[in-house]
Amino acid sequence: MNRIDHWVDNAPTPSTSGRTSPVFNPATGEVTAEVGLASIEEVDAAIASAEAAFPGWRATSLARRTEVMFAFRNLVVDNRDRLAAALTAEHGKVLSDSAGELQRGIENIEFACGIAESLKGNYSEQVSTGIDVYDIRQPLGVVAGITPFNFPAMVPMWMYPLAIACGNTFILKPSEKDPSVNQIVAELLAEAGLPPGVFNVVQGDKVAVDRLLEHDAIQAVSFVGSTPIAKYIYSTAAANGKRVQALGGAKNHMIVLPDADMAGAADAAISAAYGSAGERCMAVSVAVAVGSAGDALAAAITERIPGVTVGVGTDPASEMGPLITGEHRDRVAGYLDSGATQGATVLVDGRESAAFDLSGFFLGPSLLDHVTTEMDAYNDEIFGPVLSIIRVDTYEEAVGLVNDNPYGNGTAIFTRDGGAARRFQFEVEAGMVGVNVPVPVPVAAYSFGGWNASAFGDNAIYGPDGVRFYTRNKVVTSRWPDPGTSSIDLGFPTNT
Ligand code: NAD
Repeated sequence: MNRIDHWVDNAPTPSTSGRTSPVFNPATGEVTAEVGLASIEEVDAAIASAEAAFPGWRATSLARRTEVMFAFRNLVVDNRDRLAAALTAEHGKVLSDSAGELQRGIENIEFACGIAESLKGNYSEQVSTGIDVYDIRQPLGVVAGITPFNFPAMVPMWMYPLAIACGNTFILKPSEKDPSVNQIVAELLAEAGLPPGVFNVVQGDKVAVDRLLEHDAIQAVSFVGSTPIAKYIYSTAAANGKRVQALGGAKNHMIVLPDADMAGAADAAISAAYGSAGERCMAVSVAVAVGSAGDALAAAITERIPGVTVGVGTDPASEMGPLITGEHRDRVAGYLDSGATQGATVLVDGRESAAFDLSGFFLGPSLLDHVTTEMDAYNDEIFGPVLSIIRVDTYEEAVGLVNDNPYGNGTAIFTRDGGAARRFQFEVEAGMVGVNVPVPVPVAAYSFGGWNASAFGDNAIYGPDGVRFYTRNKVVTSRWPDPGTSSIDLGFPTNT
């Protein structure tokens, strides 16, 4: 049986806890590996390695840190196929989607290559007579990242390239469901010249997470995952005095106004609802059809669904792969039953797709119409290929729906009316907004973060907010007096 272990001190480090978890190939349902789940002692060993590496890495010049990031970026590009294959084998997403995930991750490494620009401070000369003030952003120390199964390469890349470029040392606790890709990443970072201990991977579950949350040496925690766990991470890490950013789940609405290009809106809905089998935190899960858009949109989406090719991720013809586990697939399919029982119309049932009969964890694209806000299919984060259509009469009702929803990750409006789009961007309660763009994931030079129950903590992730999160500011007030101008003054310092 293939074993996936930790990475500490730039070397693969077998787990000795005796606890393991199976890793599946979701396209076949077979167990392909087992991952070692860290004990408290194993987490402590990784933290000790990161602590020991911090003084040296912190003192390493920006030029050298940039050089390592550049080399790493090139190695990821050179190893794109190998990384994509590892992603598809354990997550199930189709190879083109794995390549897309890596591309978005690479953009974050490229942003980290610009760290010398990002860390530039301010300097004010002569704030008082003979006194200058400047600020410096300094790293925090050992920081941790805890990441979800759905983007096993990209979400960690939202964290460690910037954390490391800022001068921190890093412990990654990836999802135990698809852990292999970060073993390759760790090897590439070492090959790029990263010193031992600067990047460590601890495979594990709640035991490892809880140790990271309580250990005194961990200065900051970045988390991406579901909302209940995000809340737990936020409250526990904050109570232990750590800086914390915790991104949670989502229920993303796409509003379609009657004047929208209906073919374009339907194409966008299909891509955003069923891409990666709906296992994206920015997937569209609810299409809100306003007025006469309802019938046209429902018909256009229904017509397109049979054209989506569902199959194993390694087949270049496949556009949508399986879900992560059989249990998750069954939970997602359950929303078709609860939707029907609670009064929705099942326009397309993914269990009737040919792929449903494959041995892996497949469910075809599914569509519910006439969904209401009382239904489970509306209130729960489904995280699978089930799109709900809600019909409303007015734009105001549509925006009200989005704003009343507890989540606030992404949202989008489809319209030809610039005024409506502008009003929407002003009024809507969500962190990331698309105008005729269904999955508005910000480019790496901006930052990613939802509102409300989709994110806890003050800083969004990656981009400029990422730099702020992984550094702390120090303000220096300095006087180099002319010879002979010194005197004693016990008064409160005032500016003259
Ligand atoms: P999850 O919350 O189950 O797991 C995330 C991480 O937390 C994993 O590393 C897991 O091992 C750990 N974990 C799980 N249960 C824990 C517990 N009780 N105590 C401590 N740690 C625990 O999420 P998932 O199923 O891996 O990923 C899917 C979820 O992630 C969805 O809700 C999705 O919306 C969300 N997500 C959000 C974003 C975003 O940017 N907001 C991005 C990707 C995924």
